[in-house]
Amino acid sequence: MSHPQPTGPAPGQAPGQHRAGPSSPGERLPAAGAPFDDDVDALIIGAGPAGLYAAYYAGFRGLSVAVLDSLPEIGGQVAAMYPEKLIYDVAGFPAVRGRDLIERLADQARPYGPRYVLGEEARTLGYDHGRPVITTSAGRRLRARFVVVTGGIGRFTPRPLPALAGYEGRGLAYFVPDPQEYSGRDVVIVGGGDSAFDWALTLSPVARSVTMVHRRAAFRAHEALVRQVLDLAVPVVTNAEVVAASGAPGGRVEAVEVLDKGSRQRSRLAAQGVIAALGFTADISALESWGLDVTDRRLAVGTSMATNLDRVYAAGDITEYPGKVRLISVGFGEAATAVNNAVAALDPNASVFPGHSSDSDVPAGRASAA
Ligand SMILES: Cc1cc2nc3c(=O)[nH]c(=O)nc-3n(C[C@H](O)[C@H](O)[C@H](O)COP(=O)(O)OP(=O)(O)OC[C@H]3O[C@@H](n4cnc5c(N)ncnc54)[C@H](O)[C@@H]3O)c2cc1C
Repeated sequence: MSHPQPTGPAPGQAPGQHRAGPSSPGERLPAAGAPFDDDVDALIIGAGPAGLYAAYYAGFRGLSVAVLDSLPEIGGQVAAMYPEKLIYDVAGFPAVRGRDLIERLADQARPYGPRYVLGEEARTLGYDHGRPVITTSAGRRLRARFVVVTGGIGRFTPRPLPALAGYEGRGLAYFVPDPQEYSGRDVVIVGGGDSAFDWALTLSPVARSVTMVHRRAAFRAHEALVRQVLDLAVPVVTNAEVVAASGAPGGRVEAVEVLDKGSRQRSRLAAQGVIAALGFTADISALESWGLDVTDRRLAVGTSMATNLDRVYAAGDITEYPGKVRLISVGFGEAATAVNNAVAALDPNASVFPGHSSDSDVPAGRASAA
């Protein structure tokens, strides 16, 4: 997936010194030392499908956009949990791989130059001259004319693999944004759910070897998926745990030690890559502290997708209202509703209806319809 590059501090640069990412037009950035690290029309919190589509719609309405996500890559649940799965219920796509859907969404928004701030959580909400100001976990302050919260199930954090503490970025990974990185490597995948089996399917044609280690004898993954992996003769070590790792001091992981929980015997597996697919914990406590109307970890919205807070809208899995259906396609509709209503609420001359995209100019750099 060719991801947008995160807009973050360059090496040696303090978080407050904003640099323009490759997709940033740059001219809107305040000078270094200005009170805000970015000042945009629309700030989207959450780069899942709903957030990416909201970024497109804000761009289509002629607004500058920033998209903030606590994960290091865009795509929300789709990219983190099931990038290789086929999705069958997105309008216009009889079947689309999760990874491809996210790439298409990023492509659709790209002509409007959204700025991505990845790997940073939205922590606090304040107001400056009536405009929302979000402070991120890196201390960045982002001001916007309006905010759309597309936070899904909340900020999700991969469950850690304690035996490999300290190997993050040195062979331990929780996501596989680029399977080619594992070319020619021995890979150990830890876990027994859908993602673990998905990664095994994806990496077995690429890696030198793939071995799965799971602490139980039964799997949580879909039966057909398990069968596909077993048919590929991927070794699956069950009732076992990765208990230690080794590598050159300060270097990448080279091997892991696996404990058989029955016999208590330990064995060593070569591993230049370890993927911990142990699930995620989701947390919306940061959003809860803003004074939003939250019930059961979801935000109450009206028909315009406005929340109870001024200039704060929401879309996607995180919204709640009678009859809500949590699906990607519904999130798309809500994102369009949120952005278009925000535009009309802030500009008395603007209408909620954006006009038909088919009647609009093609933005510079936009891919052709082919
Ligand atoms: C295994 C699986 C299969 C699925 N299959 C389908 C399917 O076939 N069809 C379908 O329609 N749906 C499917 N879904 C559901 C679908 O993935 C969700 O409905 C969709 O991802 C919701 O999109 P979203 O943009 O609202 O939120 P998410 O995809 O959850 O994205 C939210 C993003 O917000 C970020 N975030 C949250 N809080 C903060 C914060 N405070 N600061 C910064 N970032 C934050 C998160 O890191 C995340 O990246 C499936 C889900 C799973 C788990």
